[in-house]
Amino acid sequence: MNSSIFLRPSRGVFIGRILGIELYLDPSWFIMLALLILSLISSFARGSDAAHSELVTWAMGIGGALFFFLSILLHELGHSVVSQRCGIPVPRITLLFVGGVAEISREPDTPQAELKIALGGPAVSVGLIGLYTGVWVLFGRFGWDAAADVALWLAMANAALVLFNMIPGYPLDGGRLLRAVLWAHSGNLRRATYVSSRIGIGLSWLLIAWGLYALTYLQQWGALPLFFVAMFLKSAAQSGYSNVLEREMLGGLSARDLMTAPPAALPDSLPLNIAADDYFLRTHQDTLPVCNAAGDFLGFLRLQSLFEIPRPRWPYASVGDLDPGCFVQALEAAPDEPANRVSRRVLAAAPDPLAVVDDGKLVGMITPQDLQRAISVRMLLEN
Ligand SMILES: [Zn+2]
Repeated sequence: MNSSIFLRPSRGVFIGRILGIELYLDPSWFIMLALLILSLISSFARGSDAAHSELVTWAMGIGGALFFFLSILLHELGHSVVSQRCGIPVPRITLLFVGGVAEISREPDTPQAELKIALGGPAVSVGLIGLYTGVWVLFGRFGWDAAADVALWLAMANAALVLFNMIPGYPLDGGRLLRAVLWAHSGNLRRATYVSSRIGIGLSWLLIAWGLYALTYLQQWGALPLFFVAMFLKSAAQSGYSNVLEREMLGGLSARDLMTAPPAALPDSLPLNIAADDYFLRTHQDTLPVCNAAGDFLGFLRLQSLFEIPRPRWPYASVGDLDPGCFVQALEAAPDEPANRVSRRVLAAAPDPLAVVDDGKLVGMITPQDLQRAISVRMLLEN
């Protein structure tokens, strides 16, 4: 799977960096690891013709699970390397209970790039199937049955991974392939995304139905993770489409078109009592911009920060006397920056607004609400 979606897994545990990409383990990954190890141990204990000792079965379960997650990581790296080759950075890969997510920082520019990125992961997995099959044959020859069993399971697990990922529903790799083909055919990215994300949502409902059936009729508790997978796919499919919609609606706009006029900035020489009475009280805002004598924007100040200094001393202290840590270092954009480039920063800056700064001066602010308003108005007037 790969994803250029806003849906951002919680940061999780940082495990390292590879090819400039940060690798994280989502907390849910640890649960999945434990479940997988347990289920592998019980199936290796039951399934093989050669009876393994308990210790060996445990080693097989742990080894199999770790190599499986390594395979998923390599699959995501496959997507990521191609993406980077296409000029689209990948800041982060997160392994979670459903597998992995390579966070591709933006949508590809062409269907060809989309196609290549979508194929990058499965190509690696197919290579791994070959590798594990070779290892299985080799270990079988040597009579290393336990290791051969694990290699065979890994080959089959990777095959299942490829097959599942080839289902043509966005955000699965097959959905991205379908989107690339439809996009190339029609030239309409939005339409192509709509179709493939609808299939993705349909697939998630099928998984839910299957999960319910397995739970109630077959009494298989192992079906529980299906619901999480389904919910994950569904929300990824939906946000994938709204992402493209947003990109289209914001096309041709700049930060200047989205911004609202900033409230009067607090000069840093202003006494705190006047800041409270004439600025915060008068505007009913709880966050206001601050500028220096030259009018340069310094950051935002939250009302609570005034209380860093005891209230009786407010007339004798100025905004500039506050600890510099009180100023919110705002994320900034230039007025002429394309709205599509700015939109992510607006979300990252929330709950503070994005500061639109021209030559050091604050000329406007953009909140997620401004962004949302621009998108809905354009959508309403489009047809
Ligand atoms: Zn993939």
